[in-house]
Amino acid sequence: MIENELRSSTEAEIVAELKRRPAFVMVSHVKPDGDTLGAGLALGIALKRLGKRVAYFNQDPVPRNLRFLPDAQFVSREIPADFPPDTLYVFGDMSDFARAGEFLPKVERANMLDIDHHLGNSHFGALNFVIPTECSTGTAVMRLLREMHTPIDKEIATCILTTIMTDTGGFMHSNTSPDALELSAELMRAGADKEQITEEIFGSKRVAATRLLGRIIDEMKFAHDGRYCYSYVDDAMLAETGADGEDTEDMVNVLRAQEGVEVAALFKAYDGEIRVSLRSSGRINVQAAAARLGGGGHFRASGLTLYGTLNEAFVAVDAALSAEGL
Ligand code: 5GP
Ligand code: MN
Repeated sequence: MIENELRSSTEAEIVAELKRRPAFVMVSHVKPDGDTLGAGLALGIALKRLGKRVAYFNQDPVPRNLRFLPDAQFVSREIPADFPPDTLYVFGDMSDFARAGEFLPKVERANMLDIDHHLGNSHFGALNFVIPTECSTGTAVMRLLREMHTPIDKEIATCILTTIMTDTGGFMHSNTSPDALELSAELMRAGADKEQITEEIFGSKRVAATRLLGRIIDEMKFAHDGRYCYSYVDDAMLAETGADGEDTEDMVNVLRAQEGVEVAALFKAYDGEIRVSLRSSGRINVQAAAARLGGGGHFRASGLTLYGTLNEAFVAVDAALSAEGL
């Protein structure tokens, strides 16, 4: 596998570089989730405590259910004009820097640090800390914080526990390792409020979102002898229910959870593009299927973007999944 051929830097090498740099921009991916934000915020907070200058870049707004994260109020599209030329841009939770979006100003590779846990990460940074066995990018950041001897206080613990809870689906997905559970216990003891995080991320659905889920379920289709379940959201469904794109975040999991389903796809056809979320129960590699269509992600959770009609997208994704053995 390609990621084994690409060398990640060690914790000590990364931390030496962090200490050398005066200023940082923590970059999270478009349509941010709890991992990309929590990982960047945790490292940003730790670096600020060392007296470093830190900005947080995201081209999209912080989703409503992640605004409780410490420092989330500082996430913006702006990068302070007086940041020095040797500012380090830290990209978290993305297999390629293009996932940062088109609003990020051009950054030289020499000033890029790539911290990630995706399969097929392109090692786009001058330094790369890519550990696919980590359950979240946040737990990869935790390895750096340990190397830095950062005291883990309530704020940092909240950020890291949020990355774990987001990417394990609340301790349900197969990446919920003993290490992830042990680290979660440690983070709770350090002050992270698991109940609050659960409530914010999983227990605060808007009524409009639940109505949209109803529509998605109405439109649910099965193929490949019931092993494939797919549905879609379009502009009309959003308008009808009053929901927005943010509300669709976990809905593909409902499709995957149907009995006998090995792969689920949710086609999100709004904002002039079709974003496809894929989930697998473990036999089919949906990262490989997404990569066939220019996307990526993990073995069991991936995504991609297509343009054209919904029907064309259904056909293209079916073909990619079939090629991966569905
Ligand atoms: P989601 O379906 O939740 O948007 O994404 C599932 C996983 O696939 C996440 O780990 C996400 O980072 C990754 N992913 C989603 N869309 C893309 C994409 O367009 N390109 C790549 N490389 N990864 C993606
Ligand atoms: Mn992640």
